[in-house]
Amino acid sequence: MHHGTDVPRGEARVSQLNEFNPKRSLGQNFLIDPNLQRKIVAELASGPESTVLEIGPGHGELSQHLVSRVGRLTMVEKDRLLVAQLSARWGTLGGVTIVEGDALQLNLSELMSHSSGPVRVISNVPYNITSPLIFSLLAMRPVPERIVLTVQKELAERVVAAPGQKSYGALSVGVQAVARVSLRFSIGREVFRPRPEVDSSVLLVEPEPEAIGTVKPSALRSVTRACFNRRRKQLQKILRSAPELSFEGDPISFLNELGISPKQRPESLSPITFVRLTEALQKL
Ligand code: SAH
Repeated sequence: MHHGTDVPRGEARVSQLNEFNPKRSLGQNFLIDPNLQRKIVAELASGPESTVLEIGPGHGELSQHLVSRVGRLTMVEKDRLLVAQLSARWGTLGGVTIVEGDALQLNLSELMSHSSGPVRVISNVPYNITSPLIFSLLAMRPVPERIVLTVQKELAERVVAAPGQKSYGALSVGVQAVARVSLRFSIGREVFRPRPEVDSSVLLVEPEPEAIGTVKPSALRSVTRACFNRRRKQLQKILRSAPELSFEGDPISFLNELGISPKQRPESLSPITFVRLTEALQKL
């Protein structure tokens, strides 16, 4: 009889091999397919001169394809057991730094300040910290030249969504205002152990911090949130009624001056229009 027990047995075998019990709280889903590991790493387009930062190296699934092939590799891992494994394997290798810590708490710019050239970042991101991690990577200075992230498919779709699409929202605007983004390829859930509930996608993020000018990302985020919390409303109505925006005056002439129709809804505004709207609100 077929009970579909192949997969669980395989999973048990893998975790036994590693003598490691994956922690759900740390979003531990390890990518076991070497071809896909290589395909993701190839998106980083790193070479012997590159400085690479990896968030959440796990057992080194991606890192093993970078060690010895890049100039410097710095890994940040929160799980002490994994840090011990990684250190035993690569701790004494030149150019490799293994840091135990929480990527959201560490000052990543400071951590990478030793590097003379631009940094490339790679992560099979713990799913529970995806959005804050993307924003802290985009806040690094100097800004990374290339970021390759494996994330939940649904989240990747939100990041790359265009105006008018169902998943277009504050996350799309916040990222696209400061970076070029593209969805490279998708990965089925079956190549991860333990197997997650959802499929993943690989995102390529190329920061362009100058695109946002003098507007603060935090200000942009408040404006987009205020708007998308009322995504069915027209912008003139949102300006009149959202206390967070503390807008006083005539929304119709204000919007017309920006080249935005007062009847437009947030979902139809491009990221750059949100930047201009934020800039104009700041000047009031
Ligand atoms: N890179 C491996 C592991 C991905 S699983 C692979 O591709 O298979 C996600 C990893 O991120 C785990 O190793 C987990 O322990 C680590 N992690 C989770 N939260 C973290 C955080 N806040 N900071 C750093 N690492 C974290």
